[in-house]
Amino acid sequence: MDRDFDAKLNEFKAYLKDMEYLNASIAGLYWDSRTYIPRGGAAYRGEVLGDLSAELYRKQTSQQMRDFLDYFSAQPDLDDVTRAMVDRLRREYDRTVKIPEDRYRAYVVAVSAAEAAWEDAKRKADYALFAPHLKELIAFNREFIGYWGGGDSGYDLLLDYFEPGVTVAQLDAVFEDLRDAVVALLNRIRQKPRPDDEFLKGVFPAEAQEKFSKYVLEKMGYSFDAGRLDVSVHPFTITLGVGDVRITTSYDEHDLRSALYSCIHEGGHAIYEQNIDPALAGTMLMTGASMGIHESQSRLYENLIGRSRAFWQYFYPEAQKSFPQLAGVPLEAFYRAVNTVQPSLIRIEADELTYSLHIIIRYEMEKAIFGGGADVADLPRMWNAKYREYLGVEPQNDSEGILQDTHWSGGNFGYFPSYALGNLYGAQFLSVMKRDIPDLERRISEGDFAGMNGWLREHVHRHGAVYQPGELIRRVTGEPLTAKYFINYLNGKYADIYGL
Ligand SMILES: [Zn+2]
Repeated sequence: MDRDFDAKLNEFKAYLKDMEYLNASIAGLYWDSRTYIPRGGAAYRGEVLGDLSAELYRKQTSQQMRDFLDYFSAQPDLDDVTRAMVDRLRREYDRTVKIPEDRYRAYVVAVSAAEAAWEDAKRKADYALFAPHLKELIAFNREFIGYWGGGDSGYDLLLDYFEPGVTVAQLDAVFEDLRDAVVALLNRIRQKPRPDDEFLKGVFPAEAQEKFSKYVLEKMGYSFDAGRLDVSVHPFTITLGVGDVRITTSYDEHDLRSALYSCIHEGGHAIYEQNIDPALAGTMLMTGASMGIHESQSRLYENLIGRSRAFWQYFYPEAQKSFPQLAGVPLEAFYRAVNTVQPSLIRIEADELTYSLHIIIRYEMEKAIFGGGADVADLPRMWNAKYREYLGVEPQNDSEGILQDTHWSGGNFGYFPSYALGNLYGAQFLSVMKRDIPDLERRISEGDFAGMNGWLREHVHRHGAVYQPGELIRRVTGEPLTAKYFINYLNGKYADIYGL
């Protein structure tokens, strides 16, 4: 490479570093506004965040950015990291600048009106209040698909935003397998008595829950030297910069599972971010590979590991000390209780088995909207029919049906599939990890997470966003995305728990 190239690369990295610092500032202020900000400061903070985000947007779409991208895209021999950096920024740049500025501004206004209308509609269980806004957001997204050059495959472009490279054709194949397997398993479980989980619903003081959650997080590999645990209405993970990845939770004193599993879930996201190679700072790649890969890490820790027998063999004695009402409950009863299957209406309350069905329903709906031209007025009927068919439950009103999630009111179409993809990726990673570490279960039952974390750091975490999800899964597992490992895992686990 010539001197001109090196100078240009340094210039580009300095530009990106500015963007990262801006990002870090936004993250810090955002974290504070979700945890400790006094009520009186919220409005002004909103203005500050809006202004900083606009500044970041300007940097992302500037003429200078375009010049950098044009220059580096034309270079033949970029190393992997620089290539990934240029590709990622190019995707974001193209996606944004292809939308005429006035149309994008109109969209932002429409989204904010839709969010307000959705809140109102959900509270009143009145879909008609939200329907015109939903229709408008769908029309905007169709229009954007046109700018991006998509026609019939428009939904692919929406998926691609959250999960680069994933297509409807690919998802159809894996989700159909998954849906049929889960429905079949669910029908067999329904014939069996429901395990007792009443002992998880006593009174569990928030302080005791916090202490126990911190103990579990630290043991499983979350570093409190590079993070902290706080309280917010909705749990989340946020990276403020190198060495600072924070998580939040919310304690329900009447259900032990709620905060505990939200901590393990967010802990999975956070361990991922904590383990990204710090050398990627200044490349905009110091983040997860995609939404779906991020969910694969949180769900791996939360479900595949955090709801396993081995995990509780280690942690249960400490749980019994922390929560005296568990003293007389055998480990096996506890294990069954945290794995109870109960088809329900609400996605965020769903158990590990039925969760994917909630996602597949949303995926099929979005496909019908963007691929099949479904009428907005028909959507609630479609929603309810799918819940009846797959889960055997039916919403009594739209608040517990189509209005339950915020995603569509924010214009986020194509987001939902990442949650279910996380399940599939996670099981696929785990199958290889178990081959590489044959005594993985024994190690976990002894509280030894070093093997697991080391494996994930080496194969997944350290790479950040250098590889796209499809490439990453192929590199690590030698196979493309498949549902078979997750299906095998579910069949084995629930046959054992329910004696099928
Ligand atoms: Zn998550």
